[in-house]
Amino acid sequence: SEANQRYLNRTKNSEVRHKAAQQFMPGGVTRFTTFHRPYPVTIIRAEGPELHDADGNRYLDFINNYGSLIHGHAHPTIVRLVQRAVESASAVSASIPEQMELAQLLCKRVASVEQIRFCNSGTEATMFAIRAARAFTGKSGFIKMEGGYHGLHDAVEFSISPPLVTGERKNTLEPIPTSSGISHNLARDIYIAPFNDTHAIENILLEKAQEIAAIIVEPVMGVAGIIPPLPGYLAELRRLADKYGVLLIFDEVQTLRLHPGGAQGLYHVEADLTAMAKIIGGGFPVGAFGGRADIMSVFDPNQPGHVSHGGTFSGNNITMTAGIASMQLLDKEAIDRLEALSSRLEKGLSHVIQKYNIPAAITRVGSMLNVHFTKLPPIDYTTAHATSKELGTLVHLELMNYGIFASPRGTWYLSTAMADSHIDETISGFSEVMQKISR
Ligand code: PLP
Repeated sequence: SEANQRYLNRTKNSEVRHKAAQQFMPGGVTRFTTFHRPYPVTIIRAEGPELHDADGNRYLDFINNYGSLIHGHAHPTIVRLVQRAVESASAVSASIPEQMELAQLLCKRVASVEQIRFCNSGTEATMFAIRAARAFTGKSGFIKMEGGYHGLHDAVEFSISPPLVTGERKNTLEPIPTSSGISHNLARDIYIAPFNDTHAIENILLEKAQEIAAIIVEPVMGVAGIIPPLPGYLAELRRLADKYGVLLIFDEVQTLRLHPGGAQGLYHVEADLTAMAKIIGGGFPVGAFGGRADIMSVFDPNQPGHVSHGGTFSGNNITMTAGIASMQLLDKEAIDRLEALSSRLEKGLSHVIQKYNIPAAITRVGSMLNVHFTKLPPIDYTTAHATSKELGTLVHLELMNYGIFASPRGTWYLSTAMADSHIDETISGFSEVMQKISR
């Protein structure tokens, strides 16, 4: 298409680099996420809200490394502190004061988190949260949502983007491995429910509560397309977990940005265990899992039969230092400012969508939003899946050509490095793209 040709023309150096990379990395990439056809751009430099690619193109970054760069790229305070940390020590296999400082900071922010431990990714965070739930309850099953994303470990790689179940939906959806290489045998432990459907959860629990350790849920679905919980949904999950004797795990890997206390603070519902990552590392590899002290005590090495957890780089000084700074910078005022920027963006994009009569709907919670090419805002995987992939791909490509770096899925994450002027520039770009498409 014409959009594709323009992309090819302006990214020649990225193409050359991608060709060379294909010899040494399968598909020429080491991660799938920002990949789009025919090849991803190679980014040479990034600062604040801007990316610069190998051909000298500038982009406003609305992916922000999938929501982890809440203060944009190379925030001066974070850079300064990290430089100092690099000079003072490399990673050590001992305690460092920064671990205690970040642990305390996160426990103070998220009311339900009494104790916490660090790891290196959100994937590990949900893996250890589920392991803790199993150890604490002595049960192995868990409920996850259809379309729910909790990282890449085998146990949770089920029903992330399954084929649509149409017609009469069953109470229990069959768990479908998301990738080859995942053992079907693991499906025995997994129960799938649609997001925002508490009846489905209760039906599973009525039958299987004796086998189920936990419900794991993103309070706002992220990868599925920024889908907010319906009013009362999370509180009802809390009630059902208590009624049936299972633990409630909130995967707040994305949602911690929404409120000083995370989605739990925003919606006033407390989890038993919480998985965190992304923004708590200030841009560096990170994960953390925490919760009730009686549950977290399963990791206490002084206890007989304690649960194993470690990791060569868990709690390393660079990540801890950047994480402390990132969270200190993200005070109530910063979150309010993000809300104002994000609301301005939503209004602008909505106006454009109406003006050009595009079949699209926006979902937004705080500084995360998603443009869906559906008539109605989705409430679960099935309704989100109705988005037009063709339109989504075209819009993504045209936005890239305009200099707006948003995800192929239509998800946008804002950063505190943005100002009103960046938002207005983006709305203008979106308007030009939509005008082109509506012709
Ligand atoms: N959980 C959620 C809700 C996520 O969005 C992600 C990543 O996008 C993860 C877990 C996995 O985190 P990581 O990529 O750090 O392993």
